[in-house]
Amino acid sequence: MQKVPLMINGELVQSATSSYIDVTNPADNSVIAKAPCATVNEIQQAIKSATQAFESWKNVPVTERARLMMRYQALLKEHHDELATILASETGKTFDDAKGDVWRGIEVVEQAMNVPSLMMGETAENVARGIDTYSYIQPLGVCVGITPFNFPAMIPLWMFPLAIACGNTFILKPSEQDPLTPMRLAELFKEAGAPDGVLNVIHGGKEQVEPLLTDPAVKAVSFVGSVPVGQHIYRTATSNMKRAQCFAGAKNHTVVMPDANKEHVLNNLVGASVGAAGQRCMAISVAVFVGEAQSWIPELAERIATVKPGLWDDKDAGFGPLISPQAKARVLSLIKEGKEQGATCLLDGSDFSVAGYENGNWVGPTVFSDVTTDMDIYKEEIFGPVLCCMAVDTLEDALALVNNSPYGNGTSIFTNSGPAARKYQREVTVGQVGINVPIPVPLPFFSFTGWKNSFYGDLHAYGKQAIRFYSETKTITSRWLEGDIPSGPNLTISMD
Ligand code: NAD
Repeated sequence: MQKVPLMINGELVQSATSSYIDVTNPADNSVIAKAPCATVNEIQQAIKSATQAFESWKNVPVTERARLMMRYQALLKEHHDELATILASETGKTFDDAKGDVWRGIEVVEQAMNVPSLMMGETAENVARGIDTYSYIQPLGVCVGITPFNFPAMIPLWMFPLAIACGNTFILKPSEQDPLTPMRLAELFKEAGAPDGVLNVIHGGKEQVEPLLTDPAVKAVSFVGSVPVGQHIYRTATSNMKRAQCFAGAKNHTVVMPDANKEHVLNNLVGASVGAAGQRCMAISVAVFVGEAQSWIPELAERIATVKPGLWDDKDAGFGPLISPQAKARVLSLIKEGKEQGATCLLDGSDFSVAGYENGNWVGPTVFSDVTTDMDIYKEEIFGPVLCCMAVDTLEDALALVNNSPYGNGTSIFTNSGPAARKYQREVTVGQVGINVPIPVPLPFFSFTGWKNSFYGDLHAYGKQAIRFYSETKTITSRWLEGDIPSGPNLTISMD
């Protein structure tokens, strides 16, 4: 049985631990590898290695750091299929979707290649007589990333390439449920020429995260995962005087106006709701139909019913199994509660399984209508292939509903009305808005800007905000004396 190595100071090392977590194939729950719970000593070694590597890495010219990212981008593209295969076998995602997971990460590496211009500061000449002011962007030191199971390529790649391109060093603690993909990402980073210690990877669960949140050498913590863990990590990291950005859970609504193009709406909602088995933080889990658009709900359920889950290498599969038996049990229990609490179950995927893989974590596509805000299927993030359909009379009602949600990750509106779209984009209290685009995940030259309970912190992932998150600004005020030296002390705060 393959034991997943750690990466410490550029070396792949087998942990000295006796405690391991099974990495499984979610299609049948067979064990495919064992992830070590790194020891305290190993975590300290990773912190030490990152601390020492920072002393030289911060002095490597920004152009050379950018070139490392160029080589890394080329290697990731070369190994795209291989990475997607590893990713699909440990997550169950279909091969094409796994390729998409890797690709959205490669796009962030492409953004990191632009680091020389992204790290340019500001200048102003002659701000007072003979005085110029300019700023530099400098790295912070050791940064940490804690990542979830659902995008094992994209989310680690949201973090370490940009942090490292800025001149920092990094410790990644990937999800214990699918550590093989991030490990391969780390190996390829070394192959691209990353110096030893610039990227370290440790494995395990919450016990392995804790020391990273309290060690004074760690300057910044990036986290993506569930709300309770995000809140805990934000509180612990900030109370230990670190900066933190914590991306958390979501409940994303789409609003369907009656003037929208019906065909476009139905086609888009199928993939946005049940794609990746609904295990996307930007999945559409609530569709709010306004006025006459409510009559489209049965047809939407019929279309979603045509999507068949299957194995990752089955070309006809629309999506794969859920990540674990626990995730499946949770989703099935929420579906049951939805029925008991009075929602109409138009399509029930509770009893779905794939022939020969009956032990897998399968849940078929599921659609509820007549959902109300007091039901658990509305209040909880289901994180499964379940769409809740709701009905309201007006755009104002839809806005009030969405704005009352404690989450604010993503939302979308389908309409042919410019004024309706503009009202929605202006008034909705959600950080990422799609207009006739169901899942509005921004490309990496923008930032990933969740709000409310979907994000704790202020500077978001990738884009210019990530450069600010992973750096300090140093502002220099300079005077070079020429001719007569001003006489006498200046006892005021003025620069003249
Ligand atoms: P999770 O919170 O269970 O785990 C995330 C990471 O935190 C893992 O590395 C895990 O080992 C670690 N962890 C777990 N418990 C911990 C604890 N008590 N203390 C410290 N670390 C701990 O999340 P998950 O199930 O892997 O991922 C699914 C969740 O992630 C969903 O809620 C989803 O919405 C969210 N997510 C959010 C975004 C976003 O951008 N907002 C993106 C992807 C996923």
